[in-house]
Amino acid sequence: MKRAYNFNAGPAALPFEVLQEAQAELLDFRGTGMSVMELSHRSKDYDAVHEEAGQLLRKLMGIPEDYEVLFLQGGASLQFAMVPLNLLNEGQTANYILTGSWSEKALDEAVKVGSTKIGASTKEEKYRRIPALSELEIDGAEAYVHITSNNTIYGTQWKEFPDTKGVPLVADMSSDILSRPVEVRQFGLIYAGAQKNLGPSGVTVVIIRKDLLSRSKGELPTMLNYNTHAKSRSLYNTPPTFGIYLLGKVLRWVESQGGVAAMAEHNELKAKILYDAIDQSNGFYRGHAEPASRSTMNVTFNLATEELEKEFLAEAKEAGFVGLAGHRSIGGCRASIYNAVPREACEALRDFMLAFKAKH
Ligand SMILES: *Cc1c(COP(=O)(O)O)cnc(C)c1O
Repeated sequence: MKRAYNFNAGPAALPFEVLQEAQAELLDFRGTGMSVMELSHRSKDYDAVHEEAGQLLRKLMGIPEDYEVLFLQGGASLQFAMVPLNLLNEGQTANYILTGSWSEKALDEAVKVGSTKIGASTKEEKYRRIPALSELEIDGAEAYVHITSNNTIYGTQWKEFPDTKGVPLVADMSSDILSRPVEVRQFGLIYAGAQKNLGPSGVTVVIIRKDLLSRSKGELPTMLNYNTHAKSRSLYNTPPTFGIYLLGKVLRWVESQGGVAAMAEHNELKAKILYDAIDQSNGFYRGHAEPASRSTMNVTFNLATEELEKEFLAEAKEAGFVGLAGHRSIGGCRASIYNAVPREACEALRDFMLAFKAKH
């Protein structure tokens, strides 16, 4: 068996150990004679899995008691709508900071729900950077301020988070949750699709400060109301049981690696390997993001011409590297190096980049 050098943006690489464990348990989970997929979501065996995943996430992220952890479906994209549906009421305005396509999509949904404004945008600069905190227009009266902590497509990442003058800060952390320590207290709500750093697609994590639950209007459809899921421990209807089980295993793996602080160290190291290759190439490879805004999760770069990029991508594919094409909306190249991508994969890519440059 040969495992690929997987640089997919999402769904993405999972820890090898997690896959092996899941394989070993697939036919008979803890003596039940069934796969986790075949267990009732109301059974004691599944409940232990469900409970453990939530507790582990609390422990790893240091989530305070006055926050709920929810396991939902519909991806981060459904949260683009659920956030304003639950938190943006009549007479209020939501503030969106635009740092890439995903923040634009989040704003598009909020516009359908209520009043919005744009507190800053780096669109004019092709989203090459995160705005400085001093550029943000936050008046302190907004329903919430929304940011995208890591911009998966452009390869930029917030390095410090804004002080929002008491307004709840909402963050889409789909592509960097658990990649570095964050102070959950700084946020009113955090959401993340699981398929980048947490596990397989199909599960979405929402971390919400409990006082914000009182904002949701009773007339919201039941499944779109955060209270429904908070009250039922995310067991109102059938949850994505196998995804939550795998997510729990990924969390155990993160813990075994030393937790989020260790992840951050490991991610900085991996990112440096690739950014150094870019910076030391005399312009052969050109990083898209400004150095101060560079993401440790998605390394985006271009070559001199589209022709050369095509050649690079074709040869990389031939050499066993998967997922290096940039997002279909902007092209170029992108290496996604989430938690589960090993350092060896980054070193192999660097070596390939050096060899390709030497040849051309
Ligand atoms: C991938 C991604 C999304 C979309 O997630 P889905 O689960 O496909 O809806 C949203 N935001 C960010 C930052 C992402 O990286």
